[in-house]
Amino acid sequence: MAIHEKSLIEPERLLNHETLVVDGVDVSGSWNTMITPRTLRDYDDDFEEIIQKYGGGENVHRCWQCGSCTNSCTMYAQNVQFNPRYWIYLTRLGLKDEILKDKDIIWQCVSCNKCTNICPKDVRPEGVMKALAHWMQDQEITEKSPSTHFDEVFWEEIYHTGRIEDASVMMGFFKRTNQPLVQEWLMVFGQRMMKYMPVAQMIKMGLNYAITPRTKSWGKTGEVLKAYVEEQKEVAHG
Ligand code: SF4
Ligand code: SF4
Repeated sequence: MAIHEKSLIEPERLLNHETLVVDGVDVSGSWNTMITPRTLRDYDDDFEEIIQKYGGGENVHRCWQCGSCTNSCTMYAQNVQFNPRYWIYLTRLGLKDEILKDKDIIWQCVSCNKCTNICPKDVRPEGVMKALAHWMQDQEITEKSPSTHFDEVFWEEIYHTGRIEDASVMMGFFKRTNQPLVQEWLMVFGQRMMKYMPVAQMIKMGLNYAITPRTKSWGKTGEVLKAYVEEQKEVAHG
């Protein structure tokens, strides 16, 4: 019998035999690969509920393990270790230590949402991947991902000015992620803008970057918005 998802079994637990005799019966050839048993004791009964409180993780309990999400997954096609179905299974069992073995790849979900479109139970696996990644960041198990840094810069811009200035958000993101402010693709982008954009528009954009304007009558709205977002986070995370 084939061993399904052999890639998920730790190499040290896979034993390969050229010849194997069990209770006097030679099963060499048929049973040349055996898996050593393991005992798991690290169940966290509350873990599924914790992940449900993160945005995207709400429906994790609906999963019936059909595997459609993994079969359709963009990242699984690149790397068979990236397995949404498996992580959802571990989340439901509360096997945090098993999930943490893959902490360096869970965040690689590219949000293509193929898994979400195909899931027959509306689990929203993409959301569960994000919920797991955010939980790890909150627990300081992993560093903040570039997308989390981007979200923070984006929201700070709104809280501060009431609007989004693209150049300002981009530069803030570069600074926060220690990237060079001048990048090759940016130079090409700038050159093309200078070639095709009306001069008056370019001057306006430059001024908006240098003196970031605030939304008219923004007043206390930014504070109210900030308080509301914090309140919603509190509700979601308990
Ligand atoms: S497609 Fe949906 S129901 Fe099927 S394994 Fe993935 S999350 Fe579970
Ligand atoms: S959204 Fe993420 S988990 Fe879902 S198919 Fe795309 S890469 Fe895979």
